[in-house]
Amino acid sequence: MPLKIKIKNIENGVHYFDFNESPKSLGLNKPFSNYIKVNCKMDKSQNQFVLNCDLKVHTNFECDRCSEEFEAELERDFKLFYFFDEENIDDEDSNTFYIAPEEDYIDISKEVREYAMLSVPMKIVCDDDCKGLCAGCGVDLNKEECRCSKDEVRPEWEELLKLKDKINKQG
Ligand SMILES: [Zn+2]
Ligand SMILES: [Zn+2]
Repeated sequence: MPLKIKIKNIENGVHYFDFNESPKSLGLNKPFSNYIKVNCKMDKSQNQFVLNCDLKVHTNFECDRCSEEFEAELERDFKLFYFFDEENIDDEDSNTFYIAPEEDYIDISKEVREYAMLSVPMKIVCDDDCKGLCAGCGVDLNKEECRCSKDEVRPEWEELLKLKDKINKQG
């Protein structure tokens, strides 16, 4: 497991840990790509470890509105508590853990994987202002004008347009 923090013989105080992993090594597939970065600040005291982590994940998405592929970096913060005393464990809080004082490592792989998945929004849009595809003609409205109105010229108008054309040429 890649995301392990060595805690054996670590002194009380603040420590920093940085990880840069491939999504694959954490068992993450699409839309995750390129990297998973985690910066953790660990505060160790007599009875506990407190971990403040910043997670940055690189993703490749396809826009829900216009189908365009785009890259995004998603961010997420999380806090984990590890207590040497089981009495401090809050069953309601999934971010508190018991850790035996003689333990050599804290493994945060599972938490990082979970928070990476939580960072993915429900709605994937390349831009909040994305106009999407026209339901009628299918053009990407971010790049082109809708063709619907031009295609739907009624026959009676066509005659008039031809006439107008003629007049213009004569003039
Ligand atoms: Zn879009
Ligand atoms: Zn259209």
